Amino acid sequence: SIKDYLENEIPKYKIDLVNRSFEIVGDIAIIEVDDELLIYEKKIGEAILKVNNSIKVVLKKSGIHKGEFRTQDLVYVTGENRKETIYTENGVKLYVNPETVYFSAKLSTEREKLMEKIKDNSNVLVMFSGSGPYSFVALRKKPNLGKISSVEINPEGHKYALESLELNKNLLKKSKTYLELLMFLRENNLPVFERSLIKNLNLLKINFINDDVRKFTFEESKIMKFVNEDLVFQNEIFSKKINEIYNYLKKYDSNKNLILDLDAKNMDLELFSKFFILFFDKINFVCKINDQQYLFETQERKALLFLFLKGRKFFELEKYDEIFMPLPKDAENFLDCAFNVANKNCIIHMYGFVNEEEFPKKCEEIILEKAKKLKVNLTIISTRKVGQYAPGKLRFCCDFKVL
Ligand code: SAM
Repeated sequence: SIKDYLENEIPKYKIDLVNRSFEIVGDIAIIEVDDELLIYEKKIGEAILKVNNSIKVVLKKSGIHKGEFRTQDLVYVTGENRKETIYTENGVKLYVNPETVYFSAKLSTEREKLMEKIKDNSNVLVMFSGSGPYSFVALRKKPNLGKISSVEINPEGHKYALESLELNKNLLKKSKTYLELLMFLRENNLPVFERSLIKNLNLLKINFINDDVRKFTFEESKIMKFVNEDLVFQNEIFSKKINEIYNYLKKYDSNKNLILDLDAKNMDLELFSKFFILFFDKINFVCKINDQQYLFETQERKALLFLFLKGRKFFELEKYDEIFMPLPKDAENFLDCAFNVANKNCIIHMYGFVNEEEFPKKCEEIILEKAKKLKVNLTIISTRKVGQYAPGKLRFCCDFKVL
C-alpha cells in the first residue's frame, strides 16, 4: 500500500495524515496534501506511482474550482511532466487537461444513468459542455438520437471536445449518415474517405459550439457573416456529374471561397450535401440566401449550412427535447435560455448547489420561481443528491418537464 512505501520516508506519527483516496483522470492522479505533509509531497507522489502501474503523472490540487470556466489550479508533483491525458468512461474516450477545462470523473455514474434514459430520436442540448463528457456518453448510449448540440464558453474545453471526436469515431460508424455515404462512395467508385471526414460526420450528429449559452439562444442568422467576395463559381456545380464534382472540388484552391446559389434550379441538394461533407475542411462556402451572401468558414457555420442543405430549418432556433445544464454554480440564471429552446414536453436536468438542510425544497423553489416569472409551466419529475460539494453543502440535480 502507499503507506507501506512511505514507512521509511515520513515520520510514523504523520503517516495517518496521508490521504489515501485521490481522483484519477486517465493516467493522472490528482491528490490533496495536508499542510503538514507538504515537504513530503514528492515522496507521496512517488509512492502512488509505485503502487498503481496505470498512473503516470501525479498532480496536486491547489485551490478550488473558480471563475467562469470553473477550472482548478493543479501543481505538478511527480511522474511524466504533463497535464493532458486520455480518460475513458462509459465506453467513450476524452482528451482532457483537468487544469484548463473543468472535469470530474466522479460524475461518470450520473452520466451513465441519465443518458440511458434519453428517448430515441430526441434532439439533445448540452449547455456548459466542457470537454464533452455528457455529449459523448449520450452518443454512446443512444446512437439513434436526432442530434446532440453542445455549447461551451471555454475555448480549451471546446478544443478538447473536437479532438475527442476523432477518438470516438467508432461510435459514429453505427450512424445512418455514415453508412449512407459509404454506400454512395462505393456505388460511384469514388476514392476512399479523406481522414477528416469522420470528424465532419461526427459534427453533424454531435455538434460542439464554442460560445456563450446566452448568445446561442438568439437568432442563429446573426452568427452568419456577410461578405463581398468575387463570384468565382456559381451554379455550375449543380449541373455537373458526380465524378466531375468530386474531381473539381478536389482540385479547388482552398484559399478561395466556393459560391453556392441556393436559388439555383434543378439542383440535387441531397447529392451536393454529400460532397459538401467530403470537402468540409478544405473549402469556405459562400452561400446566397434570399439575395444575401454569407460566408461559412468555421466548422460550426459549415455544420449549420449543412443542416440547411439537408432541408432543416435554419433561421429559426433549433428546439430540443432534452436539455442538460451541468453548471451547478449558477445554472438557474440560464433557465430563460433553456426555456427559449425547449420543445413542448422537453425534459431539463438542472444542477445546483444547496445547503443540506434545504434539500430538496429550496432546489425546486428556485426553479418554480423562475418559471413563474418567465410564465413557463413545468412539472418537477425528481430532485436528486449528486454528491457532496463542501461540508454541509451538496450538489443536486432537478429533472423537470416543460409543459
Ligand atoms: N459538462 C462538463 C463536465 O461535466 O465535465 C463541464 C461542467 S463545468 C461545471 C461548467 C462549464 O460551463 C465550464 O466548462 C464553463 O466554462 C462553462 N460555462 C460557464 N458559463 C458558460 C456560458 N455562459 N456559456 C457556455 N458555457 C459556460
